[in-house]
Amino acid sequence: MCGACYAESPCHKIEWQFKGKQGCDRHKLRLLWECRNCGAMFKIPALWVDGWCHRCFTPFREMEKQQKFWIM
Ligand SMILES: [Zn+2]
Ligand SMILES: [Zn+2]
Repeated sequence: MCGACYAESPCHKIEWQFKGKQGCDRHKLRLLWECRNCGAMFKIPALWVDGWCHRCFTPFREMEKQQKFWIM
């Protein structure tokens, strides 16, 4: 999950699901698979209608700040 992508258009990107995909090509940020705030694993993308962590309610778009810079 890329918070920066999510901030631009709040829906799941299919390319995040590709096997071996580690980072976002557009923002050069490492993808997140769990909440940095509470450690909860994200639910399956089809359920991401809410746009925030189901446990601590941190909005996905705010997680952009917590994504590590990704060097290919
Ligand atoms: Zn992105
Ligand atoms: Zn959380």
